[in-house]
Amino acid sequence: MKDRSTHARREFLKLAGITAAGTGLGFPSRASENFIPRSGDDVFKPVRAIHERVIRTVVGLRPFRPSGFVLRAEKINDKLVIHNYGHGGAGVTLSWGTAKLAVDMALQTTAKSYAVLGCGVIGLSTARLLQKKGFKVTIYAKVLPPETTSNIAGALWFPTSVYDKTKVNSKFMDQFNAACKISYRMFQDYVGEYYGVRWIDQYFLGHAEEYPGGKELYPNVNEHQNPSEYFGFDYAQQLSAMLIEPPVYLNALMRDFLLFGGNLVIREFNNTSDIAALPEPVVMNCTGLGSNKLFSDKELIPVRGQLAILLPQPEIDYAYVVPVKDNLLYMFPRKDGIVLGGTSEPGNWSVEPDQQEIDRILKGHAKISRSLGV
Ligand SMILES: Cc1cc2nc3c(=O)[nH]c(=O)nc-3n(C[C@H](O)[C@H](O)[C@H](O)COP(=O)(O)OP(=O)(O)OC[C@H]3O[C@@H](n4cnc5c(N)ncnc54)[C@H](O)[C@@H]3O)c2cc1C
Repeated sequence: MKDRSTHARREFLKLAGITAAGTGLGFPSRASENFIPRSGDDVFKPVRAIHERVIRTVVGLRPFRPSGFVLRAEKINDKLVIHNYGHGGAGVTLSWGTAKLAVDMALQTTAKSYAVLGCGVIGLSTARLLQKKGFKVTIYAKVLPPETTSNIAGALWFPTSVYDKTKVNSKFMDQFNAACKISYRMFQDYVGEYYGVRWIDQYFLGHAEEYPGGKELYPNVNEHQNPSEYFGFDYAQQLSAMLIEPPVYLNALMRDFLLFGGNLVIREFNNTSDIAALPEPVVMNCTGLGSNKLFSDKELIPVRGQLAILLPQPEIDYAYVVPVKDNLLYMFPRKDGIVLGGTSEPGNWSVEPDQQEIDRILKGHAKISRSLGV
């Protein structure tokens, strides 16, 4: 059993594009002409990854489909249902993109009022874009922020761990690439304190990432080989990325939705007959992993992720991702705490924290901090 889950994890990471584990890949140093190395007060401050600073541990289930997210319309009785679910490890990143593509489908109809099922990041973005077109929108959801999976996300703007490279077709890849581009542009309009979105220096340590959605979505790329500066790794790929703080961001989207006259109904849907009975003619399905049961989508599986959140450290102004044996370590410095990940367990539905995993995560991050000389 243990062997199988290790194998599944390794396969997931491989399919998610994270393959170059380890150090010493021998990349040349390619810092851009305008790159200014850190020095003096600007050096990397260490994360204090110790048990005493852990304020909470959380588990979330990423809604993953090997052939990618579902973005299509379907007729159920006299309703048109537009699906927008299954975003894997990058639902926050892709949210505005797939919401825009789903709303474009809705605009083919003459409907003026819409039901949105789900109040995670996908439901809220879809609802806001419908409101911006002047429509009346009701969100129906079993749980609201802060209880959604979207609240557990890191959330780095990086569209990875969304599909299995061997299972996708060109139609999906066109949707994926379009969603990345739309989302990248739209998120920039949300940068600032109110929405909890900011730019940060992101480092992929010991490995190079591809540029999902297109190289132009990744500004300020620099490649470094300098063990003393880059956390003990002899290769680091640096780029600028947006960091989204889900607790702040989702609250702000909820406020906007209500401010623009949205209705919110707390309700669980058990089958498609419940959906057919809704008063709205068009239903946007943004139920994430809930679509496994509600729409009998058995390709949709959970990829379990566990995080340890440390007390905030306002002096940390960088983020990193490191592949380690069969897993990942990543650190995102948020206002509500330092987010330490992570785990990726396909097919595991348990939302109970696992102390052994937390120990492993803390140990791994402490080792990276020690390489900074502390
Ligand atoms: C540990 C972890 C780290 C992550 N890090 C990142 C990251 O750094 N960047 C990134 O972009 N993404 C990240 N993600 C992925 C991201 O969290 C998900 O892709 C995203 O939250 C999916 O959003 P959603 O709105 O589809 O689902 P959810 O947030 O789960 O929302 C689903 C909504 O549908 C409702 N619903 C479901 N079923 C029913 C039903 N039957 N009846 C009524 N309502 C129903 C729920 O109540 C909820 O309101 C991470 C995820 C995890 C677990």
